[in-house]
Amino acid sequence: MLGNLGENLTNTMKKLAGMAVIDKKTIKEVVKDIQRALIQSDVNIQLVLKLSKTIEDRALNEKPPKGITPREHVITIVYEEMVNLLGEKSHELNIDDKPFKIMFLGLQGSGKTTTIGKLARFLQKKGYSPAIVSTDTWRPAAYEQLRQLTEELNISLYGDPNNKDALDLAEKGLKKFKNQKIIIFDTAGRHKDEADLLEEMENLSSIIDPNEAILVIDGTIGQQAHDQANAFAKTTDIGSIIVTKLDGSAKGGGALSAVAEVGAPIKFIGTGERLDDFEVFDPERFISRLLG
Ligand code: GDP
Repeated sequence: MLGNLGENLTNTMKKLAGMAVIDKKTIKEVVKDIQRALIQSDVNIQLVLKLSKTIEDRALNEKPPKGITPREHVITIVYEEMVNLLGEKSHELNIDDKPFKIMFLGLQGSGKTTTIGKLARFLQKKGYSPAIVSTDTWRPAAYEQLRQLTEELNISLYGDPNNKDALDLAEKGLKKFKNQKIIIFDTAGRHKDEADLLEEMENLSSIIDPNEAILVIDGTIGQQAHDQANAFAKTTDIGSIIVTKLDGSAKGGGALSAVAEVGAPIKFIGTGERLDDFEVFDPERFISRLLG
């Protein structure tokens, strides 16, 4: 567990290597290195300061447990504090209601529609046959994209490209699929303006009454993730986050700010454009990536 993280922090940790006692100055230096790594990974500055303060306080005040070197102890603290923020282990959906209603939220281009396909595939592999409802009346191609996806996956879709009333579409979709085990609702990612988009999400949320509202965050957007998460969290109770586009060079630090803002765990990540490019979130790997 710590090996990975240690490796990614090689330069930082070299400074600690071989020291029997780690003094205040060294810890401060190490904390600076961690700050630098996190800021380069696009983690929100406020969050970086908060995290590094906790790490510094603990490293200065806590005695390493027996058998643990001071160096290992500092690595452990860094890891623990990051995990503390992200949640201990990967969560999955707890499908405990029928129909289990999943509402997707996210800005246009975040990868929402693709991710719906990926989640549907993931659920199919678990033996479920989710139905999908399209309520995005703003992007003309959205329905067609879902039509192709659901055809490929051989699952049911409800939508009507001629109906421009998202709330009506949600109501009809709910009715049509009331006997299904899982219903996934796609929603718009743009609107006349942001206030209208958020209002629509709030109204949709009260109609759908989702068991799980999933916020899709583009892993490449950096600092904007914070404000996006904040805005969407005002419209519904976000249950989880999916971070997309982690196949590129982006480290996804913005998503960490989204997690801190919304207080919901990342459950899955998107790692490519294909339906199978989808993984259950692994906090340890994510942390290594952030600090690497
Ligand atoms: P939406 O507007 O939020 O519904 O976004 P789309 O699902 O249409 O995705 C926008 C673009 O991002 C498309 O070109 C997708 O292929 C791409 N995309 C989505 N998820 C990923 C991902 O995990 N990795 C990569 N590389 N591209 C992705």
